Amino acid sequence: MSLEIDSRLTELRGIGPVRAGKLATTGLRTVGDLLHHLPFRYEDRRQLTSIGEAIEEGTFSLAARVGELKRIHLRRRGLSVVNGWLEDETGRLPAVWFNRPYLIQQVKDGEQYLLHGRVRRRGSRLEMVNPSCESLSEAMLGGRIVAIYNSVGGLGPALVRRLVRIALDELPLKSLGDEIPSSLRRQHGLPCLGEALLQVHWPDDAADVDLLNERRSPGHCRLIYGEFLELQVELGMLRSFQTRDEKRHRYEVGRELRSKMQEALPFRLTGAQARALEEILADMESPFPMLRLLQGDVGSGKTIVAALALIVAMENGLQGAFMAPTELLAEQHFRSLRHLLEPRFRLALVTGSGNRPTEVRRGLADGRIQLAVGTHALIQEGVAFDRLALAVVDEQHRFGVAQRQVLLEKGQRPDMLVMTATPIPRSLALTAYGDLSLSVVDELPPGRRAVNTRVVRQDRRDDVHQWLAEHLEKGGQAYVVFPSIDDSSQISCASISTQGEAVRRLLARWPSEVLHGRVETEERERIMQSFGAGETRLLVATSIIEVGVDVPGATVMIIDSAERFGLAQLHQLRGRVGRGAERSYCVALHGQLTEEAERRLAVFGETTDGFRIAEADLEIRGPGDLLGTRQAGEPLFRVANIVADRRWLEKARSDASELLVDSREARKTPFMRRMEERARSRYKRLAGG
Ligand code: ADP
Ligand code: MG
Repeated sequence: MSLEIDSRLTELRGIGPVRAGKLATTGLRTVGDLLHHLPFRYEDRRQLTSIGEAIEEGTFSLAARVGELKRIHLRRRGLSVVNGWLEDETGRLPAVWFNRPYLIQQVKDGEQYLLHGRVRRRGSRLEMVNPSCESLSEAMLGGRIVAIYNSVGGLGPALVRRLVRIALDELPLKSLGDEIPSSLRRQHGLPCLGEALLQVHWPDDAADVDLLNERRSPGHCRLIYGEFLELQVELGMLRSFQTRDEKRHRYEVGRELRSKMQEALPFRLTGAQARALEEILADMESPFPMLRLLQGDVGSGKTIVAALALIVAMENGLQGAFMAPTELLAEQHFRSLRHLLEPRFRLALVTGSGNRPTEVRRGLADGRIQLAVGTHALIQEGVAFDRLALAVVDEQHRFGVAQRQVLLEKGQRPDMLVMTATPIPRSLALTAYGDLSLSVVDELPPGRRAVNTRVVRQDRRDDVHQWLAEHLEKGGQAYVVFPSIDDSSQISCASISTQGEAVRRLLARWPSEVLHGRVETEERERIMQSFGAGETRLLVATSIIEVGVDVPGATVMIIDSAERFGLAQLHQLRGRVGRGAERSYCVALHGQLTEEAERRLAVFGETTDGFRIAEADLEIRGPGDLLGTRQAGEPLFRVANIVADRRWLEKARSDASELLVDSREARKTPFMRRMEERARSRYKRLAGG
């Protein structure tokens, strides 16, 4: 039997159980996995130089005898140096290797090696520094572009290359099926899979080394595009599983209802809000379940859009659910939704520490309560709805896809609206939420002005607090946020108990409160009420207030030890102010900065545009766990990078939607069948909780 791309690695010559075990620890199980471990660099060894020609500084490949290796003992510990000579018919050249003591054992005196490295001038003579040194018997490495690998699973780079070579030799590369439709490959000028694998591991002489090193060679592009296309098709199918069956409930959105909604409104919707609402209503009126992401920067007014959709559900005699990631936020939504909706509708708060749980549960189960506002307590067993028709998830990025799914299971194919304030760059939204349709609120309510932001060193904390006193004197309200409640012996940063209490003492003339995760529910309620009403003037808090908190009267946000917060988090915190027409201010106080923290704070000080912040965040930090859609330990992509390769992502996205549209024909292809299988099993996993 010949080797296939899905064959276990143990079937590969050169890999026994031990090596297979090591590779499995890094997730490499099949031949295909190994072949998707790409070189991190390429060396141009097409031109072999003779030593006589290497008369100037530069990078060269030589075929030469290596001899007289000596280890030099240096005083400076931790550094080992090996000296030796390289020799061919045309001359001799000294060589030096740092931190490669093992060469003494490995290199056989007087034998021919292929050397590649930099030649530098040292005093009056030239020497080669740290050349890679490979036995000429592996002559295949000479005279070509050579791929350089990282070690993987404890197997060294040279061995990895050897194994890759064996795989390439034994796989029937030419006839290796490429499931990506050839029309798409042709359209984008991409080689087939087998050709692509060969190109990236074993580039031929005509290849462009620079393109290879930038991961832009046609082979790289084929692999990158392939990964994106697979994910987009899979997400599209996942979506169709979730929305293919007609829902039980129907809504009427007549003129009467619209005018009722108008009456409920405390202000005029912005154009963007109105547009998003229409998109949502159209989905709700469709016979198939809605699955929509409402995306908009902090303060763009997503809540009211969701509230209006909920009114539609309730006016039609159906139930709604509104889930938020923290109790604090759930409580706030509960207060403001009550204000908007009572007494016409009955609402209940469902949180871990909420009271009257039995009564609430009964009310939801028999339909007397029309809207449940809560935390993930909503998706616990034992919470059942009579006829849940619309589920809203606020700050979706704080939840996983699985939790979203569990909430869906609480009804019979309810409509779902998920909202996120984390401004996700479009590229990331397409990846993470490819299974959702997208509405964007890209306009702030009228009269908003950008929050005036200053990034200031902590040694000016007293000045900042002085300025804060003046602000309170003028009648303002403010937040002061700290990264931690108590001092810690491990990390030095400001805390509520030290600097927080100090600022409260300093500003004792004005009523202040302290809020963090350890404050009891009722106390928390009281504090937020009083801050919301403007009685409490200063709120000293942890990042518990990061998402969603909405007190338009507060116009100053001071973030102490700001270097402790991520960029997205800083942006969220700043979003707590600038919610009214008043001019607002944010001061980021910082201590010692790492280079990365410095970049973060620079961006933060420069722009208040959430999308630019998100792009920068992604560049500084990578996508991290922003996605929340992946299974633990399963990297989203093996080759592709959503930041660097976003152009391919966009192409894949639009190609995928075309493939999914004319599905009849397309679904019969092996590619679509495989994707369907994958989507189906992911769906099962999700639906199973
Ligand atoms: P987010 O999108 O961050 O969830 P919110 O829904 O909390 O934003 O809204 C932010 C603030 O803007 C709230 O105080 C809300 O009442 C107010 N707001 C929302 N829409 C409008 C509007 N069209 N006109 C004026 N104020 C609005
Ligand atoms: Mg919100």
